[in-house]
Parts: sequence; C-alpha cells; structure tokens
Amino acid sequence: MPIQELPTRLINQIAAGEVVERPSSVVKELLENSLDAGAGCIQVDVEQGGRRRIRIRDDGCGIPRHELALALSRHATSKIASLEDLERVASLGFRGEALPSIASVSRLTLISAVAGDDSGWRLQGDGSDGFDSPEPAPHPVGTTVDVKDLFFNVPARRKFLRTERTEYGHLEEVVRRIGLSRFDVTLALTHNGKTTLRLPAASSTAERDQRVAQVCGPAFIEQSVHIQQASAGLKLEGWIGLPTFSRSQADLQYFYVNGRMVRDKVVSHAVRQAYQDVLYHGRHPAFVLYLTLDPMLVDVNAHPAKHEVRFRESRMVHDFLFSSLHRALAESGPGVTPVVEG
Ligand code: ADP
Ligand code: MG
Repeated sequence: MPIQELPTRLINQIAAGEVVERPSSVVKELLENSLDAGAGCIQVDVEQGGRRRIRIRDDGCGIPRHELALALSRHATSKIASLEDLERVASLGFRGEALPSIASVSRLTLISAVAGDDSGWRLQGDGSDGFDSPEPAPHPVGTTVDVKDLFFNVPARRKFLRTERTEYGHLEEVVRRIGLSRFDVTLALTHNGKTTLRLPAASSTAERDQRVAQVCGPAFIEQSVHIQQASAGLKLEGWIGLPTFSRSQADLQYFYVNGRMVRDKVVSHAVRQAYQDVLYHGRHPAFVLYLTLDPMLVDVNAHPAKHEVRFRESRMVHDFLFSSLHRALAESGPGVTPVVEG
C-alpha cells in the first residue's frame, strides 16, 4: 500500500482505542469536562450499563454555538494554548481528544447553552470533519452530552464489553471516584430510570464525612482518622483507615493528586510501607487521600487516559507520604496489633 493520510474519523477511532475502553471511560471523560466547565450539579443517566446510553447534563458554563463543532474536533481544546500552559495545567482535560474520540465510536449528540443565549444549540458528530450547522434546542445554561450505542460500529470492541451489571459497576465506581474528588458538586446517577447514587453538595465536616460514608461505607468513616499535613509545598489531607479496618483487596484506596484520581507506584509503595507494621501480610489499607502540590512538580501527561502521573521529585513525595501516614498511625493510639476484618 502506498503511504496515505488516514481519514479523520479513523484517526479518531484509533485515538478512541486509548481513551475509551468501556462505558465507564466515557463517563469519566464527560464528568471531567463538566467539572472543568465549573458545573455545580451533574446528572448522569445511563441505560443498560451504559452500553445503550450515557447522558450527562451539567450546569457549567456551556459551549457557545460557534464552538460546538470545534468541541467535537480533534486536538481542539479551550484549556491550554502553549507548552507553558501544559506544564502548569490545573484542568482535568487538556488533550482535546475525548469528545471526537467518543463521537467516532458512538452516536453522540451535544446540546449546550451559554449565558445570554435564548435557547440551546444541538450538534451531532460522528468523528469525521464535516458538521451540519447547529439546530436550536431548548436547554438551560450548561451542557448535555448524549452518547448512544457505544461501539456500535466497532464490533471488536463491543465484543469485549462485559455484562450490563459489570459495566454498570465500573461506571458507578467512576462516579464515586469523581464524587470523592469534589465535595462541592452535586452528583446524581440513574440506571435504567432508577436513582442509584445521590451525592448532595457537601460543605460542613459532617456533610463531608457523610459523603465519604456513602461512598466507602459507614464502617470506614468510623474506623478511620482524618489527617492534615503540610511540608515544603506539599499538602496531604484525607481519611486513612485504622489497622482495625483492613481489607482483603486494595478496593478502597482513593488517591488524588491536585484533584485528579491516580494510581501511582510511588504512592502505593509509601502507603504500604507506612502500614507495614500494623497490618497483617496480605491485608490492604483503606484510604481517601488528597495530595496537593505545585502543578509544575507533577507531569499529568503520562498517559492518554490520565490515570498516571509522574512526580518530578518522587523521592520527596514518597518520604512525605510515608512520614505523614506513619505519624498519623502512630498517634492514632495503641492499635498496633493487626486485626483481621472485612
Ligand atoms: P479537553 O477536555 O481535553 O479540552 P474534550 O474533547 O474533552 O477535550 O473537550 C473539548 C472542548 O469542548 C473542551 O476544551 C471544552 O472547551 C468543551 N467542552 C467539552 N465538554 C464541555 C462541557 N460539559 N461544558 C463546557 N464545555 C465543554
Ligand atoms: Mg475532556
């Protein structure tokens, strides 16, 4: 075959391979967009584990009519404009890939209205270059993204989707993670028309505890301590499970770096070390932790789905985490005898 440029839609479908693995990845990308848009209230409605439909409505800033086509175009973003911006990026998105990728493997409709609009505007995209002009559609200020029939045109991907129940489980977990990342945002989830999760905005300590209890279970909040530590520009806050609340799996471990949930080897190692003497071998701690540091000290562009980060000073981060947790556990009382439970 001669060398030829690929059509836009195929390019987007290839990119979708990295960003959109299953319905839960769509939910993650759309929720991040809503948060980046400053939403205070987000409604997620899904059908059949998200395979049939994922609809996310927010009350964020909206997208102006003349930018709707751009929002669905590859590498178009309102979040960064230069390498300097990338190095200090504070938004959850910045690659300008999610919407065109999702559009290329589903039937996607975007409806949005900005302040001052008399009505909203609707646009459909399929991941290729051409767009019809937006049609008027009633919508309050904010955005609705409606994603139907995920992977209808990619049989190889559709084959890898699991049962409705399994896909729904992954998707609800994403909503929980996002729920723990922003207490100030109201989140609601429905599945096949039934409300399955409702997280009202939480501001007081009691309301925040309540949200953590809702996501991690009441036993966690009862058997955890709240910690707050700062040193040399690093800040760590959150809840860590006492040794009496260990788990057989690492399934209650939420770690956020500058508001973004990540999985990271440096973090896992520091946590494991801190708990080493208080947990039996094979038991896992539970925690909800927020690390805040200068965005310049962390590279969030390590993976297309942005699950991973790279710390510029990983030793310093490791030692800070270890000593913060170690101290908190030591101060939490004589609970150095491991207890099996859960
Ligand atoms: P990225 O988030 O990396 O910029 P996306 O493809 O996810 O790329 O979104 C493209 C652009 O569309 C965003 O930069 C933003 O300007 C706009 N956008 C997407 N979702 C929303 C939303 N819910 N509210 C307002 N603007 C949005
Ligand atoms: Mg995005």
